[in-house]
Amino acid sequence: MSDIEFSGVSKTYPDGTTAVHHLDLNIESGSFTVFVGPSGCGKTTSMRMINRMLGPTTGTISIGGQDISRTDPVKLRLGIGYVIQNAGLLPHRTVVDNVATVPVLRGATRRAARREALEVMDRVGLDRALAQRYPAQLSGGQQQRVGVARALAADPPILLMDEPFSAVDPVVRTELQAEMLRLQSELHKTIVFVTHDIDEAIKLGDHIAVFGPGGHLQQYDEPQRVLSQPATDFVAGFVGRDRGYRELSFRTAETVPLHDLPTVTVEELPEIRLNKGEWRLVVDNAKIPIGWIDTTGVEGIRAGHPLSESVAAGGSLFPPGGDLRQALDAAISSPSEIGVAVTDSGAARGAIYARDVLEQLHRQRTHEDTERNRTFFEESR
Ligand code: ADP
Ligand code: MG
Repeated sequence: MSDIEFSGVSKTYPDGTTAVHHLDLNIESGSFTVFVGPSGCGKTTSMRMINRMLGPTTGTISIGGQDISRTDPVKLRLGIGYVIQNAGLLPHRTVVDNVATVPVLRGATRRAARREALEVMDRVGLDRALAQRYPAQLSGGQQQRVGVARALAADPPILLMDEPFSAVDPVVRTELQAEMLRLQSELHKTIVFVTHDIDEAIKLGDHIAVFGPGGHLQQYDEPQRVLSQPATDFVAGFVGRDRGYRELSFRTAETVPLHDLPTVTVEELPEIRLNKGEWRLVVDNAKIPIGWIDTTGVEGIRAGHPLSESVAAGGSLFPPGGDLRQALDAAISSPSEIGVAVTDSGAARGAIYARDVLEQLHRQRTHEDTERNRTFFEESR
């Protein structure tokens, strides 16, 4: 087992700065835990105490029930992968040799370590053709992947990641985040991930530890609870103004009603008559949505304009099993203000109205408040 437990851990640097203040935290084996908070709140310091790059001033940290201050730091680190911003690669070594670093340290032959390294490269989505390049010959995103591959190469049960994606552009960052989620669904490691970005924390973590000024842990909870029930004013402020919107993605849209969808096939198009302000969803013969059309569009078709110029691009589609955020997105991103629910194969299935989504949100929240009050009164009896 590789749970990580902080008990009464504080860290004061020689200059008197208290970076971490009396931290009690139990990180479950196999969880993806994100340390989040503004800069200077002790996230990096807390993380570096896990692999003994730093020692606590007071308190103990144990892994799998073993006090780590009694384990050999070198051995300890062989079981803990570590990924940092800008990847921290050795510039004078090729990609494959960077990835093979830890297996070699562990005593694998260079040949076996390289073979293993190539397999890990596949796993993190790095083309084997890059193996003989040097880090400087790669893009920022590729370098980060090499960093992740290197940390995974010796198959450590624990992975520490300190702002690993903060320096790459937003598009690549989104890709790397998706990749991490995919990897974790296969690997089930104990991951501790540091970020200052609450969106990244919510996206990646199954548990979130919010750190505040002076290295005080403010809340340790599942993401939806951090959003819906911030434990302190600090957390409420940090989670911020988009909270209600983010929270939607944790709520089921199962009970949002599907209405009849006004559709028209491409063949029927020249024949239809629409009232002003009325929209129809244009679909192909498999009922796959093509876009929305209104009176202006129909006139365009009759005047011989191509379909592509007469149809307004549809909004985001609502997939089966989607959440309230996807439902609301589908409705408000649609030119007709009607969201389109589709089947697994992408065929139009029904209409979603924004007002239904908001009503569901209101109902679910009211229900939770009632539940909370009930428990509160029962507990205080
Ligand atoms: P975070 O990762 O949340 O930004 P850090 O753990 O890096 O926070 O830093 C926490 C606090 O400790 C900050 O006030 C920082 O300035 C201070 N600090 C970090 N490293 C040192 C050090 N080596 N010596 C003195 N103070 C430090
Ligand atoms: Mg930091």
